[in-house]
Amino acid sequence: MKHYCPYCNSEQEYYIDKRIFKEYKGVDVNVEENVPICKKCKNELIINNIEDENLKRIYSKYREVKNIITPSEIKDLRARYDISQRELTAILDFGKMTINRYENGSLPSKSQSDYLKLISKEKNEFFNKVKEAYYTNRISQKTFSKIENIINKQSVHDDNYELKLYIENELKTSPNIFNGFKVLDLEKLQNLISYIASKTKLYLTSLNKYLWFIDMISYNQRAISITGLTYVHEQYGPVIINRKYEEISKLDEKYKREDKENNDGSIQSVITSNGNYDLSSFNDKEIKIIDYVISLLSNKSVKAISNLSHKELGWKNTERFEKISFEYADNLKILK
Ligand SMILES: [Zn+2]
Repeated sequence: MKHYCPYCNSEQEYYIDKRIFKEYKGVDVNVEENVPICKKCKNELIINNIEDENLKRIYSKYREVKNIITPSEIKDLRARYDISQRELTAILDFGKMTINRYENGSLPSKSQSDYLKLISKEKNEFFNKVKEAYYTNRISQKTFSKIENIINKQSVHDDNYELKLYIENELKTSPNIFNGFKVLDLEKLQNLISYIASKTKLYLTSLNKYLWFIDMISYNQRAISITGLTYVHEQYGPVIINRKYEEISKLDEKYKREDKENNDGSIQSVITSNGNYDLSSFNDKEIKIIDYVISLLSNKSVKAISNLSHKELGWKNTERFEKISFEYADNLKILK
């Protein structure tokens, strides 16, 4: 491999030195970096495509840690409303080509990213912005009507919309040690529940433990949880804070909840998958963790799963109703 070396002022052979890039904008990224070195003078060279690949890896790790919107999420947002990059840029009143750059891998600021995430989740927020863009002549009547029609159609079909908004308002917190440094992703959570339920007979009480173990193992291995849920210590083990598993289990696009009465009069809730889960927003590592937890728990009884959770320090060292910190993920009995 040869490249121009400014120190030798000639084409020179170079080799790649592997280094660890530790920190980017105050975030521990620890990404492997390829640094080309001139064989003759041992100086570092700047080679554009190698540098681009390095940056891509750093950005993607930074994105994951800071929960920055991805290019595909922006494309999904446009696809949902059938709008072009230019139309979306105009609606948001961002600088020219901004969306184009973000879709090609440039890193949005945290505030622009948070705003993009907000409007992709909350239809009303998005539509308010569309109206503003129309009244201030940033978009045409044609664009406005197109989006209005799509939103009207969606509202009729999405019975869970209000419930989802409510759950998100109740559970969404900024990244901290109690949500595994992840902002709640309700779409992802629903797909995850549907997936687990497709693999095993899933009781509502055990669902809490499945999710907790999945998030704890994820935090143990990746320093970030998968769902962004916060859990508290309850009598039978860790559960989603403020009993929000009740409402989450009633979202019915991806799964159904059925309550059955036992002989002793107690109620047992079972969640069955609708089979329409979409795992495309999960990466390979996440799927591996999820499958691992399913393989460990799926043949165990509700009681046995509860007992497993009672062995964990996160449960042992907390009081009833106390939030369970992800710090306890460092030392997981289930991984031993
Ligand atoms: Zn040189």
